[in-house]
Amino acid sequence: MITGSCLCGVVRYEIAAAGPTYHCHCGNCRKWSGSAFASSMRAPMESLRLVGGAEALSRYESSPGVMRCFCKHCGSSVLTERHDKGLVHIRLGTTDGDPGVRPQFHAFVASKAPWLEITDDLPQIEGSSFGFVADPPP
Ligand SMILES: [Zn+2]
Ligand SMILES: [Zn+2]
Repeated sequence: MITGSCLCGVVRYEIAAAGPTYHCHCGNCRKWSGSAFASSMRAPMESLRLVGGAEALSRYESSPGVMRCFCKHCGSSVLTERHDKGLVHIRLGTTDGDPGVRPQFHAFVASKAPWLEITDDLPQIEGSSFGFVADPPP
């Protein structure tokens, strides 16, 4: 069981099935995270359980069907809901302790920040991560 929380601690979650984990370099993730890329773990929507602060989770629809969920108190970007695919993308930086997973690849490197140099040996995918690795069962 992987657990996580936002910066102020109001939003808390548990996730049962750890899915593909990766660094996303797309322009939306860069803007939303305010950083070079967003490290995320994909999981089936039904494997996520909000154990606290469900009412504090605000949503921004960055593209049709893509809801970016953040804590309305502290602003932490916690997760993205993909209602079109039945998946969530948990921001790995919100997990508590060692989630036991490690990033497996870079996605959307075609949109990478020009000031970032990727220095690890992980596979680099030009576009979306869908299809590169399978999602876990719920
Ligand atoms: Zn918060
Ligand atoms: Zn992205």
